[in-house]
Amino acid sequence: MKESETKRKTKDPVRETILQTLIHHAPLAVLLVILIAASVLLELLPPLVLGQAVDRLTDGLRITASLAAVYFAFSALGGLVNAFREAAITAVGGKLTHALRSREEQKLARLPASTYIASSSGSLTARFTSDADAFESMFSSGIVSLIADLGAVAGMLAVIFRKSPGLGFLLLAVLPLLFAFTRRVQKRMLSAHRDNRKAVAVVQGYLPETIANIRSLHVYHAENFARKRYDDAIGDSFRATERTNLYDALYSPVILTTSAVVVAVMMSLAGLQGPFLALFGISVGTAVTVIAYVGKIFTPLESIGMEIQTIQGAIAGVGRIREFLNLEEMEEPPADDMAKDADGSAEDLCGADSSRNSGGNTGTAPAETGAIVLKNVTFSYDGEHPVLNHFSLDIRKGEKVTLMGRTGAGKSTIFRLILGLYEPDSGSVLVNGKNPRSLPKTQRRSTLACVEQEFHSVEGTVMDQITLGNPEISGEQCREALRLVGLDRLSDHLEERYSADLLSHGQNQLLSIARAVVCNPEILLLDEMSAGLDSQTEQLLLTALERASAGRTVLSISHRTSAITGDRIVEIA
Ligand code: ATP
Ligand code: MG
Repeated sequence: MKESETKRKTKDPVRETILQTLIHHAPLAVLLVILIAASVLLELLPPLVLGQAVDRLTDGLRITASLAAVYFAFSALGGLVNAFREAAITAVGGKLTHALRSREEQKLARLPASTYIASSSGSLTARFTSDADAFESMFSSGIVSLIADLGAVAGMLAVIFRKSPGLGFLLLAVLPLLFAFTRRVQKRMLSAHRDNRKAVAVVQGYLPETIANIRSLHVYHAENFARKRYDDAIGDSFRATERTNLYDALYSPVILTTSAVVVAVMMSLAGLQGPFLALFGISVGTAVTVIAYVGKIFTPLESIGMEIQTIQGAIAGVGRIREFLNLEEMEEPPADDMAKDADGSAEDLCGADSSRNSGGNTGTAPAETGAIVLKNVTFSYDGEHPVLNHFSLDIRKGEKVTLMGRTGAGKSTIFRLILGLYEPDSGSVLVNGKNPRSLPKTQRRSTLACVEQEFHSVEGTVMDQITLGNPEISGEQCREALRLVGLDRLSDHLEERYSADLLSHGQNQLLSIARAVVCNPEILLLDEMSAGLDSQTEQLLLTALERASAGRTVLSISHRTSAITGDRIVEIA
C-alpha cells in the first residue's frame, strides 16, 4: 500500500492527465496530427506551382488552366486545412484543460482544511484560472504551433536547398542570427511589458487605498506624499511603455531589410558565372519560388520565438498545477470506521435522539478514555516556531473546561488540533480515543462542533446556514436548534434567502450556535465570541451557550473570568 502510494506520488499528474485524455480522444488527436502535417505541406506547394508557371512564361508558353487551377486549389485547401487545424487545436486543448481542471476539482475535495487555511483563496483560485489558462495556451499557442512552425521552416529549407544550395547555406547562416535577434527583442519586450504591468498594478493598489484614506491625507496635508507615489509609479509605466514601443518599431524593419538583403545577395550571385553558377544558378521560376519562401520563412521565425516565450511562461503555471496535484491529501478514515460509515444511518450522522441532552451517554468513547485528550503536544504552523510546547490536556466526558491564556497563546490552535484541521508535530490528540482526522464524515457533526469567534455565512437560505447543505438534517431539527438558542422567530423563515442584514451581529452569533448544536454533538468547542456586544446581547448569548452546553462535554475559551461557567480552568502560558 505504502509502496504504491509513493509510486503514485512520484508520477507526474499533469503528464498522466494529458496522456489519458489523448488516449481517450485518440481519433481527434490523430486528426490533429494529420491536419498539422497537411497544413505544413500545403504551405510549401503553392510557391512551387508558381515557379512552374513563371518558367512556362519565360519559355514562351502559356499558363495552362489546370496549372492555375492547381495553384488556386492548393492555396484554398491550405486555408481550409488551417481553419480545421485551428478548430482541432481548440477542441483538443479544451478537452485537455477540462480534464486537468476536473482533476484539480477532485483534488480540492481531498485536501485537508490546513491547506486551505495555509493558502490564500486567491492562490488556490489561480490554479483553476490563470494557471489552467496558461496550460491551455501552452498547448494551443505553444507546443502545437511550435511543431507546425518548425515543420514549415524545415520544409521550406529543404526545398530551397534542393532548388538552390547556395541560398540554402546563406539562409542557414542568416536564420540563427535572425532568430537570436528575435529572441533578444522578445525577451526585452516581455520584461518591459512586465515592468509596465507591475507599475499599473501598483497604481491600481494605490487607488482604493487613497480613496479610503482621503480624509487622513487631507487632515495631515499628505497630498504630496500621495502625489509622489502616483508620479513614481506612472513614470515607471511610461518608461516601460517607451521601451516596448522602441522594440516594436525596430523589429519589423530589421526583418524586412534582412529578407531583402538575402534576396538581393542571392540575385547578385545568381548572375555570376563560374563556381557560383552551380550554387546559385537558377531559373526565373525557381527564383520566384525561392523569393516566396524567403518572404515566408521569417514569419514562422517570429512565431517560434513567441511560442517559446508562451511555453516558458506557462511552464511556471503548469509547475504550480503539478505541485497542487501533488499536495498531501487527507487521510482516509480507517477501514473499520469506513464500514460504520457505510451503514451510518441518518441518526448517526445527525443524532435526532435527545438522550444526550437529558444526560444519557451515547458517546462512543470507552468509559476509561477522556472525551478529549492531548498528550505532550508540540505544534507549529511553520515548522520552526512552536505555538504549543509539550502541552497536555485531559477532559473527561461531560466535563466543562475553560481555557484561559493571553492573546496568541494558542487557544484557537488547540481547537484546530482537536477538530483535526492540523496534525501535531509530536504528541497525540485524541477525541473519544481516536485521531479526530479519522472520524468518519457522517459522524463528525454528531461528535464534534465548534462555535467560532465570528459567524461565517454561506450563500443560500437560512436553513443552509444551519445545515451547510447537509440534506440529512431536517427542518424540524433546525427549528429545534433555533428554539434552543432563542431564535424562534426564524423558524418560519427557514426557506428564505439569507442575507447578512437579516440578523444583527449578536443574532448571527446565536445562529452560529444553532449551526453547531443542530446535530446534537457530544463535544462542543466554544471560542470567545462575546467581544463587541452590548451587555444585554451578551447575556442572551451566555444563556444560549449555557443551554447549548447542557449534557455535553464542553471546552470553551474565555478571556474574562466573569464569563466562566465551567467546572475547571486550564491556563496556557
Ligand atoms: P486569541 O486569544 O487572540 O484568539 P489564540 O490564543 O487563540 O489568540 P491562536 O489563534 O491559537 O491564538 O494563535 C497562536 C499563534 O499562532 C499566534 O502567534 C498566531 O500568530 C499563530 N497562528 C495562528 N494561525 C496561524 C496560521 N494559520 N499560520 C501561522 N501562524 C498562525
Ligand atoms: Mg483565538
